[in-house]
Amino acid sequence: MSICAIDIDMWPVTNTQPRAPVRFNHLPLGFLSPVILLDSKAQQTELEWISYPPNGWEEISGLDENYTPIRTYQVCQVMEPNQNNWLRTNWIEKGDAQRIFVELKFTLRDCNSLPGVVGTCKETFNLYYQETDSEVGRSLRENQYVKIDTIAADESFTQGDLGERKMKLNTEVRIIGPLSRRGFYLAFQDVGACIALVSVKVYYKKCWSIIENLATFPDTVTGSEFSSLVEVEGMCVSDAEEEADNSPKMHCSAEGEWLVPIGKCICKAGFHQKGDACEPCGRGFYKSSSQDLQCSRCPAHSFNDREGSWRCDCEDGYYRALSDPPSVACTRPPSAPQNLVYNINQTTVSLEWSPPADTGGRNDVSYRVICRRCSWEPEECVPCGPNVGYSPAQSGLVDTYVTIMDLLAHANYTFEVEAVNGVSDLSRTQRLFAAVSIATGQAAPSQVSEVIKEKVQQRSIQLSWQEPHQPNGVITEYEIKYYEKDQKDRIYSTVRSKSTSATVNNLKPSTAYVFQIRAFTEAGYGTYGPRLEITTKEEATAAIVSSEQNPVIIIAVVAVAGTIILVFMVFVCACQLAFLSLTVKFPGTKTYIDPETYEDPNRAVHQFAKELDASCIKIERVIGAGEFGEVCSGRLKLPGKRDVSVAIKTLKVGYTEKQRREFLCEASIMGQFDHPNVVHLEGVVTRGKPVMIVIEYMENGSLDAFLRKHDGQFTVIQLVGMLRGIAAGMRYLSDMGYVHRDLAARNILVNSNLVCKVSDFGLSRVIDDDPEAVYTTTGGKIPVRWTAPEAIQYRKFTSASDVWSYGIVMWEVMSYGERPYWDMSNQDVIKAIEEGYRLPAPMDCPPGLHQLMLDCWQKDRAERPKFDQIVGILDKMIRNPNTLKTPVGTCTRPISPLLDQSTPDFTAFRSVGEWLEAIKMERYRDNFTAAGYSSLESVARMSIEDVMSLGITLVGHQKKIMSSIQTMRAQMLHLHGTGVQV
Ligand code: AMP
Repeated sequence: MSICAIDIDMWPVTNTQPRAPVRFNHLPLGFLSPVILLDSKAQQTELEWISYPPNGWEEISGLDENYTPIRTYQVCQVMEPNQNNWLRTNWIEKGDAQRIFVELKFTLRDCNSLPGVVGTCKETFNLYYQETDSEVGRSLRENQYVKIDTIAADESFTQGDLGERKMKLNTEVRIIGPLSRRGFYLAFQDVGACIALVSVKVYYKKCWSIIENLATFPDTVTGSEFSSLVEVEGMCVSDAEEEADNSPKMHCSAEGEWLVPIGKCICKAGFHQKGDACEPCGRGFYKSSSQDLQCSRCPAHSFNDREGSWRCDCEDGYYRALSDPPSVACTRPPSAPQNLVYNINQTTVSLEWSPPADTGGRNDVSYRVICRRCSWEPEECVPCGPNVGYSPAQSGLVDTYVTIMDLLAHANYTFEVEAVNGVSDLSRTQRLFAAVSIATGQAAPSQVSEVIKEKVQQRSIQLSWQEPHQPNGVITEYEIKYYEKDQKDRIYSTVRSKSTSATVNNLKPSTAYVFQIRAFTEAGYGTYGPRLEITTKEEATAAIVSSEQNPVIIIAVVAVAGTIILVFMVFVCACQLAFLSLTVKFPGTKTYIDPETYEDPNRAVHQFAKELDASCIKIERVIGAGEFGEVCSGRLKLPGKRDVSVAIKTLKVGYTEKQRREFLCEASIMGQFDHPNVVHLEGVVTRGKPVMIVIEYMENGSLDAFLRKHDGQFTVIQLVGMLRGIAAGMRYLSDMGYVHRDLAARNILVNSNLVCKVSDFGLSRVIDDDPEAVYTTTGGKIPVRWTAPEAIQYRKFTSASDVWSYGIVMWEVMSYGERPYWDMSNQDVIKAIEEGYRLPAPMDCPPGLHQLMLDCWQKDRAERPKFDQIVGILDKMIRNPNTLKTPVGTCTRPISPLLDQSTPDFTAFRSVGEWLEAIKMERYRDNFTAAGYSSLESVARMSIEDVMSLGITLVGHQKKIMSSIQTMRAQMLHLHGTGVQV
C-alpha cells in the first residue's frame, strides 16, 4: 500500500547559507540563523537513503505547496503484522556542532480510517542515530543505533481528509548531543504505520559574528547543553580601546542568540564614534581622552592642523600650565604690576602696587619680589640672600603688598615686583616687572644673642659674646645690663665694653644674676639680647669666718694664698719652658703660642684647628691664588649647623713636607684667634687631599682692591668704621702677644657688611708671600712702605711697628687704596722717612685722622699710640661725627706725588712769614724770627723739639706746624731730589 503524491503545508523556506558577520545593531538581538547540515527538501535529485527491507520505505517525488518538486519517503505496511522497516540517511558531517537539531515533517494515517487493519496498524515510528568518524558503508545494523525517540503524530489524517486533499502535516523536532564523533547517521524505524516523511532537516545553532559596543565578537557555536551560555571576549574595533576594568564580553546561548553584553570599547583620544567605528577628529578639533564622547573645537589661542588630535597646540606666546587640562584656553604671563610705591623706615621697606593690566587670561596671578643689594655701583647688584625677611612672603603673594625687613643700614637696594601666573615659568619672553631702587637709612644693631660665660668666680663673672648678626654700622660699645635675680626692686647695673667680652666685678657670692647685652653704634642702641642667668660661686667658708674674726688669720690666709699662687706661677712658667706646646692661660688673657715651637707641627694644627670632614665642604669656584695653591669659595655644612659660606685655601699637589708645614702654620696661628675683626678659622682638612684651610668667607675680598673699586663712595664715618674694626682686631692680636709684621690693606678682608678683618698669618708670608716685600740691607724681605724704620733697619718687629703699619693702612683707607708714597722707589721712601717726611693727608681726610696717622709714624716707637688708644680715639670720633668734618681746603689728595694743587705749595713761599700766614699760624712769626729761622730751608729742617723750643705750647699748634713742615720737606725732596737734614 502506498500513499500517492501529496501536497503539504510547508514551513517557510529558510536561508541555509552561513552568513557573513553582521553588525549587531542593525539586527535585533536574538536573530537566529541555524547552520543547516541536511535539508531533504532542498535536494532536487534522489536522496538515495538506505531502505531495508526493500519493500519498506520508498522514495517518492512530490510537490510542495509552491509546486516545487520535493523528495519524500513513505511506508504504509499496515496490513501485515511485525513490521520492521528501516530508513537511514546518508552520513552527516557535524562540523563544529555539539548539539544537533532534527526537524521532521511528516503525515501519518489514522489507523481508524483504515478498514481491516486492527492489530497490525501503528501510528508511531522510531528515530535513531549512530555516531561515526566516517561513512560506514551501506549495511545497516540495528544494534548500532541509539534511539532518540518514538515519534507520534499530533494529528493524523483520515481517508476523507485525503479526499479533500487535506492532510495534516506534523512537525517534530528532536535534539541530539553532545556529539563527539565527526559525523552521524539518522535512522527511522517503522513498525507498521502509514507515514509520509515529507522533509528531514538537520541543523545546529550558532551565534554569528557581530559588533556590539565597538567590540567585534566572532562566530560562536552554541554550547552542548541546552542551558549553557558560552562566554565570548570581544575585540575592540580599530582606534578603540577597552574601557578601564570593563572589557567587552557577550554570551552565546544554546539558541544561537547573543545575550548579556558586558563591558565595552570606547574610541581612543583623538577619535570619536561613528556607527560601529571610530573616526579621527577633524582639523581644528580634538578629543583629549577616550572617556570624552565627542571631539571638541580647539579652545581659545590654540590650534591644530592634523586629524586625530588629542590636544591642540598653543599659539606663539601662549602656554598651557602643566595642570591645565587640554580643554582650557592657552594663556600667557601677566603684564607687570602697576603703580609700585614704597615706604621706607630705617631698614624696613614696604612695597605696594596695583594688579597688572593684563592677567594673561588666568585667575592664578600672584606676585614675587626680587631683592638685590647694589653695592654702590648699580651694575654690581647681588641677591639679598637669606638674612632678609619678607612679610607675608617673598613669592606666592596674593595681595598686592609686601614688607621687607632686616635690610642692611645705609645700603642701596633694588626691588623688582613681578606678577606671575601658572605659565610664567614656561614663557621664554622677557620678564615684566615693576622696580624701585631704595637706599636704607641707619638702623640700630640687631640683638646680641650668643653670650658665653667664660669664667664664673665668687665675685666676678666673665662673659664673651658674638657681634650681632646685623651690626648695621660700626659697633663702638656694648652695654652689659645685670641685676640680682631675686632682688625685689630689681635695680639694674650696667658695665660697658668696647670689645666682645667683659668681666663684671663686685658681685655677691652664691647669688644668681641675670645678664643682658646690647650693642651701640652711631644709630643708637640695639635691643637687648635674651636673658642669661648665672650664679656666682660660693665663698670659701674658712676665709669668710677668718676675715670676720681675726685679722691675723687674714694675713696668714693671704700669705698662704700668695705663696700658692707664686708656686703655681713658677710651676706654670717651668712647664711652659719644659713643654713649649702647653697653652698657658692667665686669667683674662690668652697668649699666642708660636706654632714653630712645636716639635711636631701636626700637633700644633690639631691643638688649634678643628679637623673637618672633607664631605662637609663643597667647593664652588676659584676666587684667587694663594702662595700654596688656589683659594676657592664654597660652603661648609657641619652636622646640626646652618651651612655657611667659606673660603678654602688649598695646598697644591706635589708639595714638600716643608710647604705643608708652612701652609698649615697659618691655620695653627689663625685657630688661636677669636675676634670679630680677625678672620675666623673654621677648620682644616689634613687627613685627605687636597689639604685645605677653611676660613669664613669675606664677600668683598681684600680691602685695597675693594676701596679702589669704590673710590669716593663711602662716607667718612664708614671709612672710620672700617679703620676702627682693623684697630680692634689689632688690639686683640697685640693683647695676645702676636706681632703681625705685614699689616697692610691688601691683608685685610672685607665682608658683605663692610666689616674689616685682619688676615694673612703665615709665618713665612713676609718673606715669600707678599709681593710688596723686598730685600733690605738687613737681609730680610720687607714690605718697605708699610714697615716701621726700626723694623727695616734692624728687624725690630713689635706691636709698635704694627702700629706704624696701621698708620699706613689708615692712609690707604682714607685715600681709597692709593699706593703709599705713590711711585717713589723703595730706596727713596726709606730715605724720605729717615729724613722725617711723612705722607700728607689724603683728600677729604679729617685732620684728626691724619694726625692719628702721623702719631703712628712717630720715629720713636715708644711715642706711637697703642692699639687700645687708637680704638678709643676712633670711637670718640665716631661718637662725635663733628670732629670728622673736613675744613675746606685743609686736607686734600695730592695729584702728583708730594705736590698737589690744593695743598699749599710750600716751596713757592718766599718767606717764613708768608708760610705761617698760609697755615694760619702767623701769631708765631716773632717766635721764629727770634730763634733765627729766617729761611724756609731752615724751617724745613726743624724737629718737633725745635718747634716746642720756640715756646709754642699748644699741642694742636705744634702738630699743625710740624705737619706742614713735613709736607714742605717732602715737596722740597720731590723738587730737588735731595734730602733735607733734620
Ligand atoms: P691669601 O693667600 O690669603 O693672600 O689669599 C689670596 C686671595 O684669596 C686674597 O687676595 C683674597 O682675594 C682671597 N681670599 C683669601 N681669603 C679669603 C676669604 N676668607 N674670603 C674671601 N676671599 C679670600
